[in-house]
Parts: sequence; structure tokens; C-alpha cells
Amino acid sequence: MSVFFTAGDVRQYAYCKRIIYFRYVLRARVKPTVKMERGREEHLKLELRRSGGGRYFSLYLLSERLGLAGVVDYLSYEDGEVVPFEVKFGRWERTYSGHYLQLVAHALLLEDHFGVEVKRGVVEYPDGGVSRMMKITEKAKLRVMEILSRIRKMVSEEEVPPPTRNAAKCEGCEMRLICRRC
Ligand code: SF4
Repeated sequence: MSVFFTAGDVRQYAYCKRIIYFRYVLRARVKPTVKMERGREEHLKLELRRSGGGRYFSLYLLSERLGLAGVVDYLSYEDGEVVPFEVKFGRWERTYSGHYLQLVAHALLLEDHFGVEVKRGVVEYPDGGVSRMMKITEKAKLRVMEILSRIRKMVSEEEVPPPTRNAAKCEGCEMRLICRRC
């Protein structure tokens, strides 16, 4: 059976590799954090608020070839150009690299599905009223492919990665309690 990882896993790996280990090797199931619940609710509201104009919401895509799946928050399709949008809640001063990598992973899925090149995408932070158009570079696509291959290796070899060096990340992590036990 094919094993699929998600664009969200690519983001989580960039945040802390251990999260992927807990999820896929230990099969840890955790209660959604307040932040996760809020993200889910806001995505639903977003879907209800916006409509029309060549925009498509919550598009679930899966690629056998890439071993990748994901839900694109929404995309615009105009003049033959597909532009994915990644919507994230909370205040972010700069575009967080994990959000960009998730956007790139969605761009790869869209390319695979539609057979067109995705040259740019948007990371939106509605809480800060920010919307940033980002280039989808070949280098970033390779980085996503490299992360996917590392995730596959880590899961198949069941190797425990070291914890993140940035302890501040642990505060909001859904795996916090499990992680302390290791
Ligand atoms: S608690 Fe910290 S080290 Fe452990 S998985 Fe979460 S972010 Fe990584």
C-alpha cells in the first residue's frame, strides 16, 4: 500500500521533526490545541465568506507519483494561471518558512494534477491583514521533495529525531506531553 504524507507534514517537519515521528511511528493521537481548533473554525468561516470569481475552496489533492496529499485552502484560476492561497491565523511578523513550504507542497500537487506550472502563490495572515505573494521557486520545490524523502526515511527506519533546538516552539506544540516522556 502506498504511504502518503501531507503538505501539513512538510510544515510540521520544518517546525520540529519529532512531531512527525510521534504521529507516524508512535501513532500518537492528541487532542487538538486551542490554536488548531481556532484554525479549523476560521477556515470554515473563510469558506463561507468568500465566493465566486474563479476561486475554489478546500481542494483535496493526492498524487501517487509524489506520495503526497493536501488540502489547498483556496486557489484562483484566471487566464490559465493557477495560484494557491495558504491562510494562517495568529500574528506573524514575517512569512514563516513552514507556511511557505506548505504552499510549495500544494503548488507541486496542483502542477501534478493540472499539468501546469505554478509560478507563484499567496500566504495570507488575516489577523494581521497581510497577504503576501510569493514566488514558487525550483529550489523550494526541491527542498519540499527532499523533506518528503527524509520523512519517508525517518518513518521507515523508526529513528527518533532530536528535539528542536528552539525550546520556545515546545510551548504551543500538540506533542508536548508525549515528548516529555521520551
Ligand atoms: S515538544 Fe518540542 S521537541 Fe517535542 S515535538 Fe514538540 S516542538 Fe518538538
